[in-house]
Amino acid sequence: MVEEKRKLNPISSDTYNERFKRLKSQPNLSMLDTINIKLLDFDFDKVCCISSSSINVYCCLTCGKYLQGRLENTPAFIHSLNFNHRLFINFQTLKIYILPDNTLFHDEGTISVINEIRHLISPTFEEEEISTFPKRCLSLNKKEYLTGFVNLNSTSDTSYITTIVLAFAHITPIRDYFLLKKDDVGDILKSPNLENKLGLLIRKIWSPQLAKPHISPNELIDYLNIHQKSNNESTPSQQTVPLKNPTTFLLTLIHQLSKTSNNLKTILFENLQGKIDIKSSSTVTKNIIDQPVDDESKKKIKAKNKIVHTPFWLLKLELPSMPILKKGLKADDIPRVKLGTLLSKYNGTVSTHAAGNQLRSLKLKSLPNYLIIQYDRFKNNLHVNGIKNGFSVRNRNQTLIDYPMKMKLLNREYQLIMNIIHKSSSIPALNNVNDIDDTSSWLIQINDETTDEWWEINERSVSRKEKQLLFLGEVFLQIWRAK
Ligand SMILES: [Zn+2]
Repeated sequence: MVEEKRKLNPISSDTYNERFKRLKSQPNLSMLDTINIKLLDFDFDKVCCISSSSINVYCCLTCGKYLQGRLENTPAFIHSLNFNHRLFINFQTLKIYILPDNTLFHDEGTISVINEIRHLISPTFEEEEISTFPKRCLSLNKKEYLTGFVNLNSTSDTSYITTIVLAFAHITPIRDYFLLKKDDVGDILKSPNLENKLGLLIRKIWSPQLAKPHISPNELIDYLNIHQKSNNESTPSQQTVPLKNPTTFLLTLIHQLSKTSNNLKTILFENLQGKIDIKSSSTVTKNIIDQPVDDESKKKIKAKNKIVHTPFWLLKLELPSMPILKKGLKADDIPRVKLGTLLSKYNGTVSTHAAGNQLRSLKLKSLPNYLIIQYDRFKNNLHVNGIKNGFSVRNRNQTLIDYPMKMKLLNREYQLIMNIIHKSSSIPALNNVNDIDDTSSWLIQINDETTDEWWEINERSVSRKEKQLLFLGEVFLQIWRAK
């Protein structure tokens, strides 16, 4: 960029006119040879590399630089003169311009390389095509991949975001909403809201024409970094889960997306939200029941027993407490618990003590088409001087879950389609004092329902996973689809 800026010095008018005439006389079609598709990368924020502006930005189809403007003395115009790079695509309209002439390149959608470029910037889909997904494809760099099963590689650890983006991309009604949304492409690229940024990423995840078999989520991450800083203000002692965890991001996403579009809000509520009945009764009431009651006492009992229908996005399951494990233990040493046992919390018969001298029981009332279960591995588990004070990744509950691939709940058949798995890594101790907590990262396992194969996707790779080995992962979230 430094070199480029240096070359932006005013050009003498003679040289300028001479070059301008020479460039203008070249015929249109030969300009296609100046396109170097291998150098084009559209996963980054669409800002000019010279002016840092996001208004009216073009991509040079020869070298891939993002540059503003096309009128005289704009960065794109000067770049075309300096380097004899001729074709530029506008990120908002996807129209191609010839510079420095500043004329429209009329391709009428008939030139395949230009269609490919448009698809790389903003993939579009037809309904019939989606019904054939996932589909085996070759990327432009000749690598095989399966649409929908691509890794989102980021420069920082953003696995708590990318796992949820992939999960959303595999919830069919949400996927179809984004893939079939017929917006003007200009609007999508022009208005940078969360829905558009997420939608573009989901459309790239399912694109059969990727440049490489992986995608950078940087455009969405940059947007989130700018717009969602204020959400992360809790102090470590107030935390009960890792700050960067998929659940918090999932709930933020649902909350934010519900505000931007009514159609999307309906899809989210219809497919992801269930209801439980929370019945609470005062322990005082219980004592009264054992004694003869007069009419006045009966009224009190009635007032103290209440049922509240409560919506939920995630069904939280507590794990039985377990001893803190030492490093290097094998799977056989780790306690296991059956999913069915954990779910019994929601059958309405288990009472637990709640705040205000209350006994509380929970009963599933209605279940969504996509049921999200969260296993509570990070409770208030950090003890400082014998007092519970925040949480620690190292002290998390590592209990393994025995779960079936199919289950019946409230007379609905559910099939497991995704797992989000927690991984921890420890930082080497300094001077034998290991007071730095472990760090968390996340990966996702997704079932390809057309072949019943499982795929494990982390930020660097996609690999096939044996179904029999799935339960060995430290599952944190599961998504079950109703039949
Ligand atoms: Zn260029």
